[in-house]
Amino acid sequence: MTLERWVESHAYLRPVADLCAQVDRAAAGIEVIDVRIPNWEDYRADYLAGVPLLSSADGGVDLEPGGRMAAALLASLGAGTLSGTLAAEARALEAELRREPHVSRRIAEFLLRDETLTPPFPGLLRYLGWTAMTRFLRPVLKAFDGWRDQERWLRRYCPTCGSLPSMAQLVGVDAGRARLLSCGCCGTRWQFKRTGCPFCDTDNQRIASVTIEEEPGLRIDHCEGCGGYLKTYLGQGEEALLLSDWSSLHLDLIAHDRGLKRLAASLYEFEAPTA
Ligand SMILES: [Zn+2]
Ligand SMILES: [Zn+2]
Repeated sequence: MTLERWVESHAYLRPVADLCAQVDRAAAGIEVIDVRIPNWEDYRADYLAGVPLLSSADGGVDLEPGGRMAAALLASLGAGTLSGTLAAEARALEAELRREPHVSRRIAEFLLRDETLTPPFPGLLRYLGWTAMTRFLRPVLKAFDGWRDQERWLRRYCPTCGSLPSMAQLVGVDAGRARLLSCGCCGTRWQFKRTGCPFCDTDNQRIASVTIEEEPGLRIDHCEGCGGYLKTYLGQGEEALLLSDWSSLHLDLIAHDRGLKRLAASLYEFEAPTA
C-alpha cells in the first residue's frame, strides 16, 4: 500500500497529506547538523531508572542544533512561495519567535514539554519542530534502537523523548505477538505489556477492541477503566504509513462517536474530519 493509493481511497485525508508533503519537501532542503552519539554506558543507570534519553544529563544529547534546524525549517516555509494557511501560520510563528533570545534552545525545550514558551500555533511548532528534530537525531535514534534492552523499559512513555504513545502496533503471530507503542513525536517504537492500559497504567483493566471491516490492518483498542483508546496497527512493513497517526484520522472519528477519549499524544492536533 503506497501513500498515494491510501490517500486515493481516503479522499478526506487529501488536505492533511498535502500539508505533510509540503513540510517534508521543505525539511529535505534543510542542512542536517551532526549529532554526537551518547556514551551508552554513561546513560545506562538513568535508562534503568526510567529517565528518557533526551531528558538525561548523563545521556548528554544537546538538542540545540535540532532547534536551529527547526527554526530554519520555519523560515523556509515562511519565506517560500507557498500560499495558504500553512505559510501564513509559519510566518506568524516565525515573527513571534524572532523576538526570543536563544530561539533554537527555546524550541528544543518546548519540544520536551517546557511550557514557558507560549507561541501562537503551538501545534504547528510541535509538528515542524519534531519533523526537524528527528532529522537531526536520526543517527542517535538508530544507535539507541540497537543498544536498548526492550525488556528493561516496558514503560508507558517513550524511552527517547518521554511522550505518551500516539499509537500501538501488534507484531508477530498468536502467542508470540508483541505489542509496541509508537511515539508520534520522535518516531521511537518500544515494547509494552500485551494487555494493560498505557493511560491509567493498570494491569487489571479490561482492554476491548473495535475492528473496522474496511480497515483490516487497523483497530481501536480501548480501556474499560479510563475510556482511553489507542489506534493499533496489526502487522509489519507499513509503519511509515500506518503509524503516522494522520493517516487514520477516520478511526479517531469512529472512536469519538463511541464516546471514547483520545488520551494518546497528538503531534498534529488536527481536527478530525467531520464529513
Ligand atoms: Zn518519543
Ligand atoms: Zn486506562
